[in-house]
Amino acid sequence: MHTIELDIFSPVHQIHNPVFDEKGLKVFLKRDDMIHPIISGNKWRKLKYQLKRAKQEGKTHLVSFGGAYSNHLIALAAAASRFGFKATGFVRGEEVMNDSIWMCRLHGMQLIFTDRESYRNKPALFDKHFGNDGQAFFIDEGGASAEAARGCSELVDELPQTYQHMFCACGTGATAAGLMNGIKNNHMDTVFHAVPVLKNGDFMADEIRRYQTYPQPFELHTEYHFGGYAKTTPELIAFIKNFIATTGIMIEPVYTGKMLYALTDLAGKDHFAPGSHILAIHTGGLWGLLGMKDLF
Ligand SMILES: *Cc1c(COP(=O)(O)O)cnc(C)c1O
Repeated sequence: MHTIELDIFSPVHQIHNPVFDEKGLKVFLKRDDMIHPIISGNKWRKLKYQLKRAKQEGKTHLVSFGGAYSNHLIALAAAASRFGFKATGFVRGEEVMNDSIWMCRLHGMQLIFTDRESYRNKPALFDKHFGNDGQAFFIDEGGASAEAARGCSELVDELPQTYQHMFCACGTGATAAGLMNGIKNNHMDTVFHAVPVLKNGDFMADEIRRYQTYPQPFELHTEYHFGGYAKTTPELIAFIKNFIATTGIMIEPVYTGKMLYALTDLAGKDHFAPGSHILAIHTGGLWGLLGMKDLF
C-alpha cells in the first residue's frame, strides 16, 4: 500500500535585484515549487494530512472542487494517482478544455462541470452524487482546512535560519495561517506579510484567523490584487517577465507574481529596515503558467 509522503526538496535561494541591493536587504525564496512538478508546493502541504486521514478512514475516492484553472484540482489529481486514490473534481461553470483540465484528465480525475448556482453548495453536491458512496472523501475547495494549515506549518520547521519578515500570497488564507502557526511553534520573531490576490482583500484577515492556532498580529497588504483574482495588468506581466529573466526562477501571475511585486514595491518604499532578511514563499502553481502564454 502507498505511504502518503513526498521527499520534500525545497531549498532556500537568495534572489538579487537592484532595489534589494540599494536598500541593503537580503531576500530569499523558499522553493516549494521544487517539491514536485505537478503536486505543486503549498497544495501538497495542504493535502498531505487530509490524504493521510482519508487513508486511515479507509476511503479510496477523493472528491473536491475548483475553477477551470484550479491549481488545487491539478495537484489533487496528481496526488490521487500517485497515492492510489480515485478522484473526482467538481469544476465551476460550463464545460471547457484547457491545459489545467487536460492535466486533471491525464491523471485520471473524473470531472463534473457544474453550473455556478449548484456549485455554491458543495456539501449538497457531494451528498447528491456521492452520499451513498462509503468510499468517497470530501475535500473543500482549495483544500482549506485545519489539516491544511498543519501541513503548511511544517515549512517553517525546515528553515535554515530566522528571518525578520516572511511573505506569502493568499487565496483562502489557510497557507498563511499555517505558516504563522509554524513561526509561533518555532519561537521565531518574524513579521508575517499576507498578500491577498483577490479584490477587497480585507476579509482575508478573518479567514486567516480562522486557521490560526494562536492569534498573532500580521500585516495584510490589500493593494496588490491587480484588478482581482487571476486578473493582470501590463505592469504585473512586465514585472514577472523581468523577474524570470533576471533570476532564472519561474513565477506566475495569479499568486507568486503579485506577492513578489508587493515585496519589491514595499522594499522600494523603505518598508523594511536596512539589513533585514526577508523570506518569500514560492507556493508553486507553475503548471497553470503554461496555459497563460497569451498574456505574455
Ligand atoms: C492555491 C495557491 C495559493 C493560495 O493558498 P491559500 O492557502 O488558499 O491561501 C498561493 N499560491 C499558489 C501558487 C497557489 O496555487
